[in-house]
This record gives sequence, structure tokens and C-alpha cells, in this order.
Amino acid sequence: MGTPETQTDGSVVDECPRCGWPESEIYQVLSRHLTSEGVVAYTRCACGEVQVRVQPYAAGRVVTASCGPSRTDPAPPGL
Ligand SMILES: [Zn+2]
Repeated sequence: MGTPETQTDGSVVDECPRCGWPESEIYQVLSRHLTSEGVVAYTRCACGEVQVRVQPYAAGRVVTASCGPSRTDPAPPGL
């Protein structure tokens, strides 16, 4: 006994289960990989625990970007 921990099902652990370091503050980023689901980052906690977190691509990304000389007004088909 001695651990007044009320853990409900479905609760998201937002801190290191080892030392309690908040996940919002990344201690050290080991590597990052771009996947189709998002950015997979391997981080290491202050206690040495290696964690893997997936950050989905946020909304508001660039959908289209036209660069270079664009032909405005395509040639109208002659009737
Ligand atoms: Zn830790």
C-alpha cells in the first residue's frame, strides 16, 4: 500500500510511469521518422526510459502550392 493511485480505464498516461516526467516536456529526442500516419518520434526521458510517440499530422497543412510559372487562362477551345 501507499500508492493512492486511482486509475480508471481509458485514462491516458501523460507522464513517465517511471519518474513522472511530463510527456509534454520532451527531455531528449533520439530520432524522428515520417510515416503515413504522422511523425514517429523516439524520445528518451530523464530517467533513461525510451518512449515512442506518434504525432499525427496536424490539420491546416498546405494542400496545394503552385510554384513556378503557371499558365493562367488556358487556351480556350475554338468553337
Ligand atoms: Zn522517466
